[in-house]
Amino acid sequence: MPRKILVTSALPYANGAIHLGHLVEYIQTDIWVRFQKMSGNECWYVCADDTHGTPIMLRAEKEGISPEQLIERVHGEHARDFAGFGVGFDNYHTTHSPETQACANDIYLKLKAAGLIEVRTIEQYFDPVKQMFLPDRFIKGECPKCHAKDQYGDNCEVCGAAYAPTDLIEPYSAVSGAKPELRHSDHYFFKLSDARCESFLRRYTARDNGVLQPEAANKMQEWLGEPGENRLTDWDISRDAPYFGFEIPDAPGKYFYVWLDAPIGYMGSFRNLCERLGLDFAEWFTPGSQTELYHFIGKDILYFHALFWPAELEHAGYRTPTKIFAHGFLTVDGAKMSKSRGTFITAQSYLYTGLNPEWLRYYYAAKLSATMEDIDLSLEDFVARVNSDLVGKYVNIASRSAGFIAKRFNGLLAPADADLPAIRAIQEAAPRIAELYEAREFGKAVREIMALNDAANQYVDSVKPWELAKQAGRDAELHAACSNALNLFRLLTVLLKPILPVVAGKVEQFMNLAPLAWRDAGSLLAAGHAINAYEHLMTRVDPKLIDKLVEANKESLAPVPAAPSPQRHAEHQQNVAAAETTGAALCTIDDFMKVDLRIARIANAEHVEGADKLVRLTLDIGDGRPRNVFAGIKAAYDPALLVGRLTVMVANLAPRKMKFGLSEGMVLAASDGDGRVPGLYLLAPDSGAQPGMRVK
Ligand SMILES: [Zn+2]
Repeated sequence: MPRKILVTSALPYANGAIHLGHLVEYIQTDIWVRFQKMSGNECWYVCADDTHGTPIMLRAEKEGISPEQLIERVHGEHARDFAGFGVGFDNYHTTHSPETQACANDIYLKLKAAGLIEVRTIEQYFDPVKQMFLPDRFIKGECPKCHAKDQYGDNCEVCGAAYAPTDLIEPYSAVSGAKPELRHSDHYFFKLSDARCESFLRRYTARDNGVLQPEAANKMQEWLGEPGENRLTDWDISRDAPYFGFEIPDAPGKYFYVWLDAPIGYMGSFRNLCERLGLDFAEWFTPGSQTELYHFIGKDILYFHALFWPAELEHAGYRTPTKIFAHGFLTVDGAKMSKSRGTFITAQSYLYTGLNPEWLRYYYAAKLSATMEDIDLSLEDFVARVNSDLVGKYVNIASRSAGFIAKRFNGLLAPADADLPAIRAIQEAAPRIAELYEAREFGKAVREIMALNDAANQYVDSVKPWELAKQAGRDAELHAACSNALNLFRLLTVLLKPILPVVAGKVEQFMNLAPLAWRDAGSLLAAGHAINAYEHLMTRVDPKLIDKLVEANKESLAPVPAAPSPQRHAEHQQNVAAAETTGAALCTIDDFMKVDLRIARIANAEHVEGADKLVRLTLDIGDGRPRNVFAGIKAAYDPALLVGRLTVMVANLAPRKMKFGLSEGMVLAASDGDGRVPGLYLLAPDSGAQPGMRVK
């Protein structure tokens, strides 16, 4: 009986790029899903962009676009990056969707009917300039413990102390710089401390219930404490307007906190898929459902997935997750990803540099296990391992035998030797390797598969097709040797297919095979099977590409965007908050000279229809070719007063297509990164400077 399985990965936050830290989880999940599908199970893999919250709202405002425009653009970028790495979602949706809203309202109203929602008045900092309540991460001030300046409202990055924003000395708003005021507001709480939630969670997260990995179950017991200790606290699920999110159905001006609707986004995405494909959503989410539900997450968001989420589902009358799989963080060369060292590597830069995404899939697979331990991407080991395992051991088997079949035997195979030890070894190992995939012990699976590759290569080395080919009268032996080798290669491809879907597709094409399923590891190709011409499968990693990749990710000349740090959950799956993010990377004079700064005369300036922030500038840099530049300076300057002024522009910035047209550069302006001093100040040269002069 095929199993019915629904799988999710955590939702990436829609205000940043996908990087190699994120990809650990998506690649891990994708390998597991591909294995399930190959095994004949009905398996659906859904995900979505996590789109709500204050950081999205403020970032959109900063860019002069609506939050909807921002999340649509980021959705496109995320979908492109995931596709580039072969992450095969059945649905990649958005939490800003009618399906997610319907599920969120439904869960909220059911929890309310069950007496698990309570309204309480809380005191919170309010920004009088921006007219909004401030999340902890948007309040800064002096640490009450060590007196370090400019610390966030929830904890100090210098001494590590945790505190409430009201403990900060001389607090200020990170949005406007204003001194915040304490104001009262009604907030909605999910009563996690209710006895029903606690007793359910004790059972659900217990080690012997098997939902969580042992180390995660232990962590939960710590959080739950001993019965009677009442350690669980109620969870604040509302935020005040202005907020980008879903308004609470019976509470005008109050919105669901982004973390409420993020896991509900799994349901929303699946509901959208069900509607498109005619699947029965209720079958999957009704209590007692025979289907399986698995969440892959980073260990930093266990609290949300193992406590809040199952408690919500249970008490709103839905099924709870079958298992929750938490993984560790990624380090690069043994250290946290670092922008100044160039190891904070984006998915896009990896693809643009020309590295093969399946190299990374393989490397991660070789490192992954079922535990929550961190995994390390050692760049030197990455090159060595991919070259030795994938090119030296695996691809080599086909490249050494396929040509002879094509040239000497019309592309037709001889019967395979079913008793060949290397063939029997693979067929005997296949069920064991299947268990390792099922248990997410990918590293162990890879080690077994590579040992089988070694045995296959020993066979090829022992029969030496390249020597047989030179000797007269040994055609039958050559034919048998190459046919056995290609059968071995096909079997090994079955075992590697969850990790290397693109290479497996090429193998299916060149060997003229129907899409390989796991059961194909039990069969051999019939005599007379015709193969197509050998297609090149994979190149070696050139270490120079790695240097290029690191170089491309070194923090550039561009100042670090002045947007306030994203809230914590934006950083799930990779401990970015702790990564090195100082903007103090050094740049050489050569780096600096790459930027072509020119004196520009503002020949024309005008409002842009439909843009809140932008001014369209026509800049003259003395070369007879006026440049069109959109500048986000509308709040500070009246376009009419800009015409005729001189300023400084970046003349060799790659043109950027914007909603309103092409922007062919940028003008330079000063602003306070922390927003304490309001305003924006356009640069101007001393008198005498002429349009087109180089600034250096
Ligand atoms: Zn401190």
